[in-house]
Amino acid sequence: MDKKIIRLSKSRIGDQEKKAVLKVLENEFLGMGEEVKTFEKELSHFFKRQAICVVNGTSALQLALQAIGIKSGDEVLVPSLTYLASFQAISANGAKPIPCDIDQESLIIDINDAKKRVTKKTKCIMPVFYSGGVGNLDKIYKFATDFGLRVVEDAAHAFGTKYKNKLIGSFGDISCFSFDGIKNITSGEGGCVVTNDKKAISALKDIRLLGIENDSEKRFENKRSWFFDVKEQGWRCHMSNIMAAIGSVQLKRFETFSIKRKNLAKQYDSNLYSESHIKLIFRDYKSVVPHIYPIRLDKMVSRDLIREILAKKGIQTGIHYYPNHLLSKYRSKFISLPVTEKIFPELLTLPLHPDLDDKEVEYVCEELTKAIKQNFN
Ligand SMILES: *Cc1c(COP(=O)(O)O)cnc(C)c1O
Repeated sequence: MDKKIIRLSKSRIGDQEKKAVLKVLENEFLGMGEEVKTFEKELSHFFKRQAICVVNGTSALQLALQAIGIKSGDEVLVPSLTYLASFQAISANGAKPIPCDIDQESLIIDINDAKKRVTKKTKCIMPVFYSGGVGNLDKIYKFATDFGLRVVEDAAHAFGTKYKNKLIGSFGDISCFSFDGIKNITSGEGGCVVTNDKKAISALKDIRLLGIENDSEKRFENKRSWFFDVKEQGWRCHMSNIMAAIGSVQLKRFETFSIKRKNLAKQYDSNLYSESHIKLIFRDYKSVVPHIYPIRLDKMVSRDLIREILAKKGIQTGIHYYPNHLLSKYRSKFISLPVTEKIFPELLTLPLHPDLDDKEVEYVCEELTKAIKQNFN
C-alpha cells in the first residue's frame, strides 16, 4: 500500500545544481557577486534584453512597478484570478490593484472588462500569463497604448512561452519572471525583471540593494560601497550567488524541461479531451510552455470530493487561484466579476512537473475519470 505520491509540482534538481551550489559554498562568497552577474548575463542573452535578478518573483513585480514610478494613489488593472503576489506587489507600492475579469476561454485578463475600470488614476496594466498562456497580447498592448498605460507583465507562469514566434520577455514593456522552487526553471527562490527601459533598469539596480547608488556593479566585483548616496526607498531584494548558481544550471537544462512539460500537457489534453464533465483550457503547446495544468469540472461535479478521492490514490491536486477580489484586503461591494466567479469553483489543477512520466499522467487521468463516472453520472 506504500504508494509513491504524485506531486502537484516540484523542482527537478540534479548533480549539476548540487555541484554548482557546493562551489559557491567553497568560495565563501554567498551574497550577490560573480554568479549573479553571470546568471544575469545568461538571462539577458536568452531574452535578448537586459535582465535584472532579484530575490523572488513578487519583488520582481513590486520593484518593476516602483522603477516605472507607480506610487500611492495610482491604479493598476490586474486580473483577480492570479496568485496573491500580483496584488501584494501593487499594494506594496501604495497603489491600488483594480481587479478585472478574465476571458472565458483563455483565462487571461478581459480587455473589454478592463476598459470599463479605467479612471484618471489608472497608470498600468498587469496581465497575468495564467498557466503559460498569454491570450491576445496585441489587444492588451493596443489597449495600453490607447490609454497611455505602462504594461508590467506577470510572466511567472510563462518562462519560455512564445507569442507569434517571439519569446515572452524579449519584447513589450516590462516582463517579470519567478524562479521559485516549482516554476519552469528555479534558482531556489528568485526572479527577474526583463525590459529595454534604461531608466527602469538603472532604478532597479539600485532599489534591489537598499537604493544605494551603483552598488550592483561593485557587488559584481565582490566589493561594496562604503560612501554613497541614496535618493529613493530601496529594499534588500537582490539575488544571492547560491541562487544564481542553481539558476544558471537550470537555464541550461530548460529546453529538456520545456519539451517534457509540453508533452505531458499534450498527453493530458488527448486523454481528457472527450471526457464528459471535464472542460479543457486550450493552450497551443507549440508556443506555450505550461507551468500548471488546470482543467474545469462541470458544476455538478464536486471538486472537493474529486480532490479527496484523488488524494487517497496518492495524487495531489491544486486550485489556482482563490480570486483576490474576494479577500478582505481587496474586497469591495462594487466589484463583481461574473466570469471569474463562475469559473473559479470549476478549476482543478492536475500534477505537472518535469519529473512526471507518461504512466503517471495515464494513472492520474484514469483515476480522475473513474472518480467522476462513479460519483457524477
Ligand atoms: C510564482 C508567482 C508569482 C511570484 O513569484 P515568487 O517567486 O513566488 O515570489 C507571481 N505571480 C504568479 C502568477 C506566480 O505564479
